[in-house]
Amino acid sequence: MKKTVLLLGVLVFAGILSLNYRTATRSASENYFGKGDADDSTAISMFFSSALVDGQAYKNLQELCRKHPKRLSGSQGAADAVEFCRKLMTDMQLDSVWLQPCMVPRWERGTLETGNIIEDKKRTAVKLCALGNSAATLAAGINAQVVEVTTFEELEKLGEAAVKGKIVFFNHPFKEEFISPFDAYSEAARFRTRGPAAAQKLGAAAVLVRSMAHVHDPNPHTGNTRFDSLQANLPAAALSTVDADLLSQRLSKNLLLRFELKLNCRQLPDVLSYNVIGEIRGSELPKEVIVLGGHLDAWDLGEGAHDDGAGCMQSVEVLRILKRFAAKPRRTIRVVLWMNEENGLRGGNAYAAWAKQSGEKHIAAIESDAGGFSPRGFGISGNAAQTEKFLSWRPLLNSFGVGDLHTGGGGADIGPLEPLGTALIGLEPDQQRYFDYHHTAADVFTAVNRRELHMGAAAMCSLVWLIDRHGI
Ligand SMILES: [Zn+2]
Repeated sequence: MKKTVLLLGVLVFAGILSLNYRTATRSASENYFGKGDADDSTAISMFFSSALVDGQAYKNLQELCRKHPKRLSGSQGAADAVEFCRKLMTDMQLDSVWLQPCMVPRWERGTLETGNIIEDKKRTAVKLCALGNSAATLAAGINAQVVEVTTFEELEKLGEAAVKGKIVFFNHPFKEEFISPFDAYSEAARFRTRGPAAAQKLGAAAVLVRSMAHVHDPNPHTGNTRFDSLQANLPAAALSTVDADLLSQRLSKNLLLRFELKLNCRQLPDVLSYNVIGEIRGSELPKEVIVLGGHLDAWDLGEGAHDDGAGCMQSVEVLRILKRFAAKPRRTIRVVLWMNEENGLRGGNAYAAWAKQSGEKHIAAIESDAGGFSPRGFGISGNAAQTEKFLSWRPLLNSFGVGDLHTGGGGADIGPLEPLGTALIGLEPDQQRYFDYHHTAADVFTAVNRRELHMGAAAMCSLVWLIDRHGI
């Protein structure tokens, strides 16, 4: 009996609390979002509270990664993820949700990816993965000598005579001295994107590339490489950093060692796919658009959690937060989950082509594609007026820990909007661990921290709010 009374008491008390909370929220909505005199700091603090207390991005990311972990463009996984996200946004009762078609390339990894260092009778297996656009080897594999280079100049100096019929090994490490790992990536990634084609011109039989990362571990990092023609491509694979060091060490003692590479990846015809789009229509200036998003496609080794399921679900979360407070944006707030960022950018290009003739003005585009880590701020690529307005929000955003605002920034998918005069802005989280996961089997949901992910969504929502209220 006593227990029942106590339980009843607790329930009544909890009921009063939740009633008060709802009442407080409703009146706050009226005060801060119904009229034009919202206090920015109060609004932003409510966005952060909502993201941290009731955020849905983490749960949505878990579902995306669990149900559709493999989302490489043109795959069944990508098609299923499009449907998943369309339903996710439809269930939010936005003003509109639609799919924007684009043709995407389809490259399949296949089931065979092996590499062995061969010295006399001794075979040492190494960890590697094919690069996107790589050709297959014959079933027996390629068995050839290896020439190691660290720069394009070294490759040129070697020339055709030393390269023909051999496996070229680009062993260019991420520079440790860079503060930003993204700068190290920019400096090194050309050996992955252009190395195989350069080696092919000198008659190489195949290419190995050191993985794009500072981290020293056994996970190979995939990514795209480009050939002049996909009908005449070359087998190309990334070695884990551990095995790149191992191969280099063995070569330093034995230049005549051989390497056996087996890959059965393949290129298939282009496939119809989609960007997934959802929006809240502007109440005063519906033809002025603030677009935000991430890319829905992902490399196929992990689950595409940091890259870029995180950015997709953070963007969807911005719409949830705005709806949660019954915020009536002045301008149209549109989320685009782009398709095919990783190996073609067809979604980003299709959206920009459509935007150009849509009769709308895209005033700003915000992309989250740098991992679901603790947000620090944003980078902008825009004209002087846009940049000045953006930088003026530094003190305000600083008080929420996301005020590192600076020039230079954006994102691959929003890049094609540049000719429209759109301010291009990238969410910038802490960078130090991103390349531990980038394009590897380790990029899985459990590598994402809930609070860090939600902080990023709140930061994006805050910037969307400021742009909507004050223009840019
Ligand atoms: Zn990405």
